[in-house]
Amino acid sequence: MKYDYLIVGSGLYGAVFSHEMKKMGKRCLVIDKRPHIGGNIYCENINGINVHKYGAHIFHTSNKKIWDYINQFAEFNNYINSPIARYKDELYNLPFNMNTFSKMWGIVTPQEAKNIIQSQIEDLNIMEPKNLEEQALSLVGKDVYEKLIKGYTEKQWGRDCKELPSFIIKRLPLRFTYDNNYFNDKYQGIPIGGYTKIIEKLLEGTEVRLGTDYHNFVAQNGDMIQRVLYTGMIDEFYDYKLGVLEYRSVRFEQETHETDNYQGNAVVNYTEREVPYTRIIEHKHFEYGKQPFTIISKEYSSEWHKGDEPYYPVNNEKNNALYEKYQELARGEKRIIFGGRLGNYKYYDMDKIIEAALDKVEELKVQ
Ligand code: UDP
Repeated sequence: MKYDYLIVGSGLYGAVFSHEMKKMGKRCLVIDKRPHIGGNIYCENINGINVHKYGAHIFHTSNKKIWDYINQFAEFNNYINSPIARYKDELYNLPFNMNTFSKMWGIVTPQEAKNIIQSQIEDLNIMEPKNLEEQALSLVGKDVYEKLIKGYTEKQWGRDCKELPSFIIKRLPLRFTYDNNYFNDKYQGIPIGGYTKIIEKLLEGTEVRLGTDYHNFVAQNGDMIQRVLYTGMIDEFYDYKLGVLEYRSVRFEQETHETDNYQGNAVVNYTEREVPYTRIIEHKHFEYGKQPFTIISKEYSSEWHKGDEPYYPVNNEKNNALYEKYQELARGEKRIIFGGRLGNYKYYDMDKIIEAALDKVEELKVQ
């Protein structure tokens, strides 16, 4: 056997796993079907602007151990995510905070905002929110839901808010202070120079083969491999034999503009249903770029079909039940480990991905 681990996918999970295994003296080979490393955190430097090619990634965590871990591989700037929501011609601050409420209702104090929200949710009589709509309504009331949540969520997920799990909206904080910091986490920033450099460092000294499909590779080289870490889609691994899990895909329209500042913010969400894209990212603002031009990406959300890039697992009941069945198959595997957003069918953030990869390494250490 030439390799202790074949790592399928060079995204953050695969790269952390491979780095840690290499440190322990394991021989690793990383393969990726794409022509570049990094999975969906891949950034391409275009004339000095790091373009997040598969959507904006802002690193945030409350876990000091994970923050220290990632800081070994990059220096982070002090970027704080403060997206703007645009509903028709109205602009609001996110997450939902006193700036949002003040703009929405012309009020000033937290008590006034609470009174309005309270009166809007009282009539609804929702005891235990069963879906995203009920969760959102019982948190912020009808006005915020209708202007800032409903259209955006239905575009992003392609489903009625009543058919989506409530945990999705729990990612978004609600505050009664004038604080536009999107995340509640203690640590936050963008790696100076982009995310690809982090992956390069994690994979330093490890053999990587790009443009390499797992099934073809194993058909020819299976005898070189002791174990496999698979970070691709778990249903695809099993040739969809129990059914097809649903994912959302995203298409990006990238444009260069001859202006130094297109929208004045890195992230602008378009929350009305009628605008076809969900958000526009202006990449230079993540790193306070001073270029005389700018690059933007419009994000269009779509249902995933075979051949598309999967981005988000759709963790509703039906899909979670099917995933359970795949997990049952996976538990029977002696040589294959599944990990990452696609392998675990879980809406992980980057910090949770690192945590999960480190935990997996620990678990394997004691085996
Ligand atoms: N969301 C919303 N309006 C917004 C931004 C977010 O309703 O302007 C909701 C929406 O349901 C979305 C969820 O919050 O799916 C999580 O959004 P986030 O921006 O955290 O998602 P990601 O960056 O992972 O795409």
